[in-house]
Amino acid sequence: MAHPNYPHLFEALNLGFTTLKNRFVMGSMHTGFEDHLNELNRLKNYFVRRAQGGVGLIITGGYAPNRLGRLTPFAASFNSKKMIRAHQNLTKAVQAAGSKICLQLLHAGRYSYHPFSVAPSRIRSPITPFTPFAMPGLLVQMTINDFAKAAMNAKEAGYDGVEIMGSEGYLVHQFLSKRTNHRKDKWGGSFENRMQFALEIVRATRKRVGQNFIIIFRISLLDLVQGGSTPSEVIQFALALETAGVTLLNSGIGWHESRVPTIGSMVPAGAFSSVTGELKKRLKVPIIAVNRINRPELAESILAKGEADLISMARPFLADPDFVLKSEKNQAEEINTCIACNQACLDHIFQGKKASCLVNPLACEEEKWNELFLKTKTSKRVAIIGSGPAGLSSAIAFLEKGHQVTVYEKSDSLGGQFKLATLIPGKSDYRESIRYWKTRIEHLGGKIVLNQNVNDIETVRAFDEVVIACGVKPRDPKIPGQDLPHVYFYDRFLREQIKPASRIVIIGAGGVGFDVATYALHAGSDEDRNPAHFMEHWGIDTHAPGGLSTVKPNVMSPRKITLLQRSDAKFGRTLGKTTGWIHRLELKRSGVKMIAGVQYEKITEQGIWIKGKDQKTTLIEADQIILCAGQVSEVSLVKKLEEANIKFHLIGGAKLASEIDAKRAIREGMELALI
Ligand code: NAP
Ligand code: SF4
Repeated sequence: MAHPNYPHLFEALNLGFTTLKNRFVMGSMHTGFEDHLNELNRLKNYFVRRAQGGVGLIITGGYAPNRLGRLTPFAASFNSKKMIRAHQNLTKAVQAAGSKICLQLLHAGRYSYHPFSVAPSRIRSPITPFTPFAMPGLLVQMTINDFAKAAMNAKEAGYDGVEIMGSEGYLVHQFLSKRTNHRKDKWGGSFENRMQFALEIVRATRKRVGQNFIIIFRISLLDLVQGGSTPSEVIQFALALETAGVTLLNSGIGWHESRVPTIGSMVPAGAFSSVTGELKKRLKVPIIAVNRINRPELAESILAKGEADLISMARPFLADPDFVLKSEKNQAEEINTCIACNQACLDHIFQGKKASCLVNPLACEEEKWNELFLKTKTSKRVAIIGSGPAGLSSAIAFLEKGHQVTVYEKSDSLGGQFKLATLIPGKSDYRESIRYWKTRIEHLGGKIVLNQNVNDIETVRAFDEVVIACGVKPRDPKIPGQDLPHVYFYDRFLREQIKPASRIVIIGAGGVGFDVATYALHAGSDEDRNPAHFMEHWGIDTHAPGGLSTVKPNVMSPRKITLLQRSDAKFGRTLGKTTGWIHRLELKRSGVKMIAGVQYEKITEQGIWIKGKDQKTTLIEADQIILCAGQVSEVSLVKKLEEANIKFHLIGGAKLASEIDAKRAIREGMELALI
């Protein structure tokens, strides 16, 4: 019987020789465990947990087909008997838990971060320091064989199939594109010739693994770089891949070197599914839609519109391994939604750390946490003061352990700093976290008391445990004249949704300074939810070569915004590795002026007087001045509790405000309850 809410998502997909039980695919994403055999058990636990959560098909992080194709010098390649044996336990365990699993084969080509990188031509990428060697014809043929051999190895290791990474600017994609393929031999020149490397890989792989093995090819639908494929070339290539023997196509959007955001929080939900839909009309094999799909109703609507046959999500399964089960049980409100922040997943990987998830610190640490959730035998009464990320995550963990929890919040709604984040254009998904925390606390029987500022100790005296999670308040930069009416602390400016004026100066260029600048640029509008606006804003034209419009987008702001910092360091250095460039680019192209190395002298009705690096004092005229000078802990209750000799715990920003972020706050809240 069809599922009442998600009939398409829960329909099985018969691939002829095998059947996928539903249309959910956990997309490929590196965790950091892939590269060390002694960490394979952790990778297994991570996948098994997602398989238990009901996902139909899992695709692993990328494995190189040979040593030259490794992303980093010590990354794994799937080319040894040792590798086959090591993965057999993993595949068996995932399949026993009910999912199918495919291994991704990824040759990094010129994106390799080592001096022996190879590519079709000797052209360095703008995002790596190494110039690749151009592959001689013999090496091209050997690499094709290595792909086929690695796929066979995957079959022997028990995988249900492989995904060949042919997009995002990696080697196979580099052969396809005239941007990176300047060869004069049979592998270069015409589009027909440039396709052959990919097609030969698919043919050789199919020949080696036989018919009853899934071959997914990740094809780039929009390159989002100059010199990218045209829409008709994408169709020609997709049809040739079908003939060559692929089972499924997966959608790829953008090269890694593209300067257009494709997965950041500012990308509207499901922004690229229509591009998959256009290709699907021409295909016989099923196709997978990807990028910024993080809610079951959105996934269902993409399938219902006929834009895709399967939906791939990677980060949403880090955020909630039970995404599928909760959808199936019509408990979508209880899904811990991925907010596309990248802070604990991709940023960690780019820093050489293990992946985790900001909203779900359990991700990739399954074995560490599982037993900590065992119910307590001594249930306590716990008061949590403050309802930001630290307080709410702690409340859930205490409740899961079997304690009785009351959350006190002085305002009329939950969320703390996340509430402010929801007001920034491109961050509206942060609402989903607040929704999740609230639903989960209510479901687990926790009590939420709003509009109560706990400043008398009698309220908390009756509890066994008191947790102070009051968060932070803005740091006072103490600039003479800051009490004038056109000066605002950032929290008031955002909370009261003050209309941005024509000339704005922002004091402090941390994450909050950047957020406030973005708010001011867009005048607080919610236009980020609109895919058409996003496409126009970033110069995307899905009918143009490479998906890029020839008309430069007009993004200059009518407002004059100036961002100031005292240090001489690079602006936005504290922003995330994988998203900081987007925020910097967005502000620069909108004409935001950034001045470093300043000293603040005084604020007057005309604006702010600063001393620059040249020691000259100048006035920056401004109608509004916003103070974003960091935060200090909000601990007014602490002293009273100490005086009354009541024990308490401090977590999140209330414990340490310096560079507090939600990742640390959520983890601390959870650890307090569980460890
Ligand atoms: P922050 O990152 O510590 O930045 C504070 C800014 O204020 C700095 O630019 C600092 O620069 C300036 N400042 C510090 N003391 C000052 C003083 N006494 N007078 C004048 N200026 C002063 O704090 P935040 O921006 O409030 O962000 C808080 C946390 O949230 C951070 O961990 C941040 O990464 C995170 N966050 C991240 C994002 C994002 O990634 N998009 C967005 C929002 C928040 P100078 O000392 O050079 O002047
Ligand atoms: Fe999503 Fe952020 Fe978690 Fe990554 S860290 S999975 S982007 S919520």
